[in-house]
Amino acid sequence: MGQGLSCRIRDDHGLFTAVQFGDLEIVKTVLDRDPSLLQQTTVYDRHSALHIAAANGQIDMLCMLLENPSVNPDALNRHKQTPLMLAAMHGKIACVEKLIQSGANILMFDSVNGRTCLHYAAYYGHSDCLQIILSSARTSHVAVSWGFSRFVNIRDGKGATPLHLAARQRRPECVHMLLDSGALVCASTGGYGLPGSTPLHLAARGGSMDCIRELLAWGADRLHRDASGRIPYAVALKHKNGACAALLNPSSAEPLVWPSPLKFISELNQDAKALLEQALMEVNRERERTILKSTGYSMPSPSHSEATTMDDNISEASDSQLCCICFDQLCAIEVQDCGHQMCAQCTLALCCHNKPNPTTASLIAPICPFCRSNIARLTVVKVKVNSVDQDLDLYSSPKQRKSRKSQNLSEGSSSFRGLSFGKMVGRGSGRVSLDNEYIDKP
Ligand SMILES: [Zn+2]
Ligand SMILES: [Zn+2]
Repeated sequence: MGQGLSCRIRDDHGLFTAVQFGDLEIVKTVLDRDPSLLQQTTVYDRHSALHIAAANGQIDMLCMLLENPSVNPDALNRHKQTPLMLAAMHGKIACVEKLIQSGANILMFDSVNGRTCLHYAAYYGHSDCLQIILSSARTSHVAVSWGFSRFVNIRDGKGATPLHLAARQRRPECVHMLLDSGALVCASTGGYGLPGSTPLHLAARGGSMDCIRELLAWGADRLHRDASGRIPYAVALKHKNGACAALLNPSSAEPLVWPSPLKFISELNQDAKALLEQALMEVNRERERTILKSTGYSMPSPSHSEATTMDDNISEASDSQLCCICFDQLCAIEVQDCGHQMCAQCTLALCCHNKPNPTTASLIAPICPFCRSNIARLTVVKVKVNSVDQDLDLYSSPKQRKSRKSQNLSEGSSSFRGLSFGKMVGRGSGRVSLDNEYIDKP
């Protein structure tokens, strides 16, 4: 739109063209000669100079214009779009930031589809702009008057939330960010109890595997029916998104779900959270590979390097402890306050449930599988930098490793459904614990 924005401008005085190209000198000269020009708008779309600066990312121009007290940061064009909406639409992050600092209202609706700046950022996939708007919403008057979660789930004229738009337009980063900020994964465009589409329906239509993966990991319902009575699987088939349909087929394996409603998750530190998210995605990707293989679809493009990055991090920590539950991964997560450690996958299996049931969802805080104490916090195990001094520290003692392994056999398996424990029996059996420090008391 950058160039297109001004193509229909009748610009006798040259102001709008100069704004578009960021020519500060010309703009100053023109406005010195006739300050009233600042109130002029383009003929057809009725863009103000501020709209043009915002849409074209002319940050210096935008700052200069905003210094003038007669310039309204929430000026409306023909479609009731604000400069902030245009900046969010075009991904002009500096302009979004500056406009919000200057008091632009994030809770304005255009007259095209009744959309806010948050809808624009989500629709066009500008996750950086989305982030700025969300953090402004947390602190601004909007949080007080509207409530933050209501803002995140704000509907446009057709009932679509920003999450619907991001899912439809194949914007996985925005989908993730919105879900992380409390967007309702099951929101229906219907509203008032009427049937409508969920974000999963729209992702099935858009055909983005990444979006579908995110939504499923957040507990999206594969059986929800839209206004035509279709489940997301049917929508994916209709739009010939075969691989997506395979994942959405209700008869394929249930994905592991991120336990967002659990209270303790808010007490996760950021590193631990990121690690668990990676682990969850990795487990689900494994499941996808199986599903896709059996249906004859191959994985689309070698996706994401997250998983390998994580593996690299872990393999560096050569003296880390092997997880006592799966004997497969290294310990990455530490339970507090007890200090027991396990790998990210096992932590997830402990806290995740395979099939969320909203009616009976029990919000019982998870407990440590080793000592049964409540989990107050999860932190990332500090990886020791390969230092030369190989002190016999607590966590590399073979004696303890052995004791934890054997201790694990007596329990754990029941609470860790959803993961494969093929290796546990083979590697852990036959060991006898001589050290009862970690043995569980009934
Ligand atoms: Zn494990
Ligand atoms: Zn413990």
